[in-house]
Amino acid sequence: MKYLYFVLGVLFFSSCATTKKNSSQTKDDGILEVVLVQVNDVYEIAAIENGKTGGVARIAALKKKYLQQNPNTLLLMAGDFFSPSVYNSLQYEGKRIRGKQMVAAMNAAGFDWAIFGNHEFDISEKEAQERIDESAFSWVASNTFHKTAGGVLPFAKQKKNGAVIFPEKAIITLKDADGTVAKLGLFGITLPFNKADYVSYTDPLEASKKMYAVLKDSCDAVVAITHQAIADDIVLAKEIPGLTAIVGGHEHDMRREEVGQVTITKAHSNAKSAYIIRVLINKKTKKTVVTDSLYYINETVAPDSATQVVVDYWTGIANANYASIGFNAKEVIMASGPALDGRDDVVRSEETNFTQLLVKALEKASPAADIILFNGGSMRLDDFLQAPITQYDIIRTLPFGGAIKEVAIKGSLLIQVLNVGLKNKGTGGFLHSSNTKLVNGVWFLKGMPIDENAIYRVALTDFLFSGKEANLGFLQPANPGVIKIYDDFKSPDIRSDIRLAFISYLKSL
Ligand SMILES: [Zn+2]
Repeated sequence: MKYLYFVLGVLFFSSCATTKKNSSQTKDDGILEVVLVQVNDVYEIAAIENGKTGGVARIAALKKKYLQQNPNTLLLMAGDFFSPSVYNSLQYEGKRIRGKQMVAAMNAAGFDWAIFGNHEFDISEKEAQERIDESAFSWVASNTFHKTAGGVLPFAKQKKNGAVIFPEKAIITLKDADGTVAKLGLFGITLPFNKADYVSYTDPLEASKKMYAVLKDSCDAVVAITHQAIADDIVLAKEIPGLTAIVGGHEHDMRREEVGQVTITKAHSNAKSAYIIRVLINKKTKKTVVTDSLYYINETVAPDSATQVVVDYWTGIANANYASIGFNAKEVIMASGPALDGRDDVVRSEETNFTQLLVKALEKASPAADIILFNGGSMRLDDFLQAPITQYDIIRTLPFGGAIKEVAIKGSLLIQVLNVGLKNKGTGGFLHSSNTKLVNGVWFLKGMPIDENAIYRVALTDFLFSGKEANLGFLQPANPGVIKIYDDFKSPDIRSDIRLAFISYLKSL
C-alpha cells in the first residue's frame, strides 16, 4: 500500500508540471498558448447564401486546422443553436426534429463547450432535455438553472450510467509540447430573456462576479462565455477588468469591443464568421496576452467531409419534406439585392425592407384586399438575409407557413385590431399592415380615415384569424364584426401558403 501511495504522489506531482525539476528536464518555457475558435448564434447546419458561407462542416474544418497547429484548441458555441429553425416544424421518426439536426452536426464537428442562449428554451422542456442528452460536447451554466417539480437544479445530461451535471464553472488543464501546464477557467452566462416555465435564472453580473472570484486564483486565465446584449458585456468587462476575454453571442452582426484589457468578441450569426482568439499565458510573468482575428467562413474553407455527411443526411430529410408540400428548396429566387433585415427585435417593432417586401407579396397575391395584415412573430429568421436568396431561405424565414385568409370585416373591428397590433410592439403580435398610418389617434388607410361602419376586405394569415395571437383573441370567425369569410385557398393557388406567395413575388421581380 505504501508503494501505491508513493506512485500516486509522483503522478500527481508530475501532472502539475510546475516544479523546477520537471521544467529543466522538459525545457518547460512557462509559456502556453490556447486557441479558442468561437461561433455563436448558429441556426443553420448547411452553408447558407446558396452554399457560399457558413455551414457546420466548415466550422469543423476550421477547428481541425487550428488543432493541427496547436492541440490546445477549443471550439466554443456562445449560445443559440437549438432554435429557431425550419427543422422545428419538420417531423422525423414521428417526432418534431427541433434542434436534433444541429446537435448531431455539432457532435460531428467536435464542439468542446457550449452555453445556453435564449433560443435554447424555445422548444419544450422534454425536447430541450433530449437535445442536451444527445450532445457530446460539454456545457457550462453559471446563472441558468432547471426549474423542476423538485426545485431549482442545475441542468444535466441524463446518461445511462448517471447524470452529468452542468457545472457553474469549469477549470480546464492544458499542457503543451514542452510540458508547460496551465489552467483555463470558464464560466457561462445567459441573458434572462426567455421565460420558459422550466428555466430559472440568477442575475448575470452577480453570477459572473461569483464565478470569477472562485476561478481567478486557481486559473492562469479566466474566459467568460456569454449570451447577452453587448451593453451588458461591456458592463461585465468594466466590473471584472481581470477577465481574459469575453466570448459572446446574441447579436448577429459581429461585434468587437475593447474595455480596458478585456476584449469582447461576437462572430456573425450562422457561422458566416468565427473569431479566433489566441490566449498566450506566461506563467513566469503571470501575464496573459490575448489576440483575436475574425475569420470569414466562406468558399475558401473546404468543409470537413465527416461532418458534411451528417449535414447532408439532415438536409436530405428536410428537402424531401419541402418537396412533398410543393417547394424546391434549392432554387435561387433572388440573385442579388440588399441584405434584408429579418432580426426578431426589429420585425417585432417596426417595418424593415424585409417586412415591406412581404407586404407587397401579399398585396400581389390578394389583389382584391383593401389591407394586408401579418404578425411580426411569423418571421423567424432573426437575422439578415443576404442574396442569393433560395426558396429554402423563405421557408426558414416563415417556418410555420399557413394559408392567407381573406375576410370582410367592419371598420370598427379593423381599428381595434390595428390598435392592438401597435400595442403588441416588441412582441410577436406586433402587426405589419399595408398603407396604414396613425395620425392623432385616427387610423388612415390609403390616405382615408378608416370608417367604423364601412366594410373592408382584409388579407391576413390564417394563424392571425384563429384568435391565438397575443391580445388578439377576438380576431376570429365568431366575432360579430366579421361580415364574410371567403373560401379557403387550395393548392396550386399561391394563397394556400404564405411562402408560396412570397416566393412567387420574389421571382416576379
Ligand atoms: Zn440570443
